[in-house]
Amino acid sequence: MAELSWAATVRLVHERANYCCEYCQTSQEIIGQAMHVEHIDPTGSDEPDNLCLSCATCNLSKAKAVTGFDQNTGETVALFNPRLQQWSEHFVWIENGLRLKGLTPVGRATIERLKINLERVVNARHYWIKAGGHPPDLKESDKT
Ligand SMILES: [Zn+2]
Repeated sequence: MAELSWAATVRLVHERANYCCEYCQTSQEIIGQAMHVEHIDPTGSDEPDNLCLSCATCNLSKAKAVTGFDQNTGETVALFNPRLQQWSEHFVWIENGLRLKGLTPVGRATIERLKINLERVVNARHYWIKAGGHPPDLKESDKT
């Protein structure tokens, strides 16, 4: 396969993620802010398999981290990898989509490290839910 230009890579990352943060599922369409192209392994390559789409809160909270701490088990574990792991195996929305709950050490450590249940984001989610755009799994367009 021919190497993609950076512009083509950025487009691929956005389209592959359906313009949603691959950690917290925040939708670019709802927040109206540009998403970040995040390096899953911060020292890794610029290839699509090391990249994911991330909202600013998740990306800036993750920074150079690759691990997080799970308070339930006392384990330090690798953060969620959207390229290698299934989101729904590690996370579930609770409180009608206001907060994300970790189902596994990876899920819980990722929520903590990336500040996914930060109070100001939770407050914003009230409006997204009222508008019918959150969580993404409950979108009318996704129902079959
Ligand atoms: Zn996010």
